[in-house]
Amino acid sequence: MKITRMQCYHVAPRWMFLKIETDAGITGWGEPVLEGRAHTVETAVHELSEYLIGKDPGQINDLWQTMYRGGFYRGGPILMSALSGIDQALWDIKGKWLGAPVATLLGGQVRERMRSYRWVGGDRPSEVIAGMQTLLAQGIDYFKLNGCDQMAMIASSRAIDDAVARVAEIRETFGHTVEFGLDFHGRVSMPMAKVLIHELEPYRPLFIEEPVLPEQANAYARLAAQTHIPLAAGERLFSRFDFKSVLEAGGLAIIQPDLSHAGGISECFKIAAMAEAYDVAFAPHCPLGPIALAACLQIDFCCWNATLQEHSMGMHYNQQADLLDYVHNKADFMVEQGFFKAPHLPGLGVQIDEDMVLARSQQSQPWRNPLWRHEDGSLAEW
Ligand SMILES: [Mg+2]
Repeated sequence: MKITRMQCYHVAPRWMFLKIETDAGITGWGEPVLEGRAHTVETAVHELSEYLIGKDPGQINDLWQTMYRGGFYRGGPILMSALSGIDQALWDIKGKWLGAPVATLLGGQVRERMRSYRWVGGDRPSEVIAGMQTLLAQGIDYFKLNGCDQMAMIASSRAIDDAVARVAEIRETFGHTVEFGLDFHGRVSMPMAKVLIHELEPYRPLFIEEPVLPEQANAYARLAAQTHIPLAAGERLFSRFDFKSVLEAGGLAIIQPDLSHAGGISECFKIAAMAEAYDVAFAPHCPLGPIALAACLQIDFCCWNATLQEHSMGMHYNQQADLLDYVHNKADFMVEQGFFKAPHLPGLGVQIDEDMVLARSQQSQPWRNPLWRHEDGSLAEW
């Protein structure tokens, strides 16, 4: 079998899908995208295609190393997102060729169902209680929300109180019938992270995500030493080499590599194993589309330390399209009482509605995250 063609499709709300075709008539789908930089990643996919066209798609290990090491420069969000989506599509082809789900090819399932959580509230998390009430009525009781609004390096006590009051209201309203993680989103700098984490302790969130920016990853151990709340991070780390230093330095209880940014299935399977050796949980980051989610689920079902799976169904970013719009086998991705079922179809287990992808790709608009400013006019982390 030889790879004959690679085509990218930009689709709403902010995703890019890759279709890899072969001379055997088997096609594979991947999701090589960096939110807000989809066209830059498309160019990287196009450049990497020089290593792939005419090659056997089954030689994933060698193709991965060629894409990673072959160009001298490596790593980082753009190149690794391109590589990630290509890797997903290669695994999809391999599974379809051999007639087995990717998880089966990686040694088989270690669990029967996979715990997920649901996003609630938007970028500026003000309507969390109403959102939780609606979702709780549907049987969903695991959530994630933004932990705070934009936050100055040295913020006022009022800004801290606002963030804490929202979380206190969740516990007052729902008690411990709900579980929730808080995403600081890299908005909080070290001085305020110490304060905010301390103030949130009585409410026992499941975890605090990106308590500080990944540039400050050497501080995770210091932050962890002051709190019993599990700390999570990893959506902005891009390979096992990035995770190596974070795991060695300690402090994280949960790592969150993104299957579309951190080298795809091949790399994240290895990252999960590295984390297991440090007794660290694995919770793939996935605010993206259905192919990225399908790739995550394949890993979740064969990595013992996989504990929580994010998904973007009903998420605040999904304005013009939602996760299952592009999927034929929607039932396979239905969350039942908070859990995903094990994938059963060959490859990634997602049947892409190609007509829908083609139609929507004609009208796709570039997505950008908002630019926020502090009250003094300086740029705020979003
Ligand atoms: Mg996050």
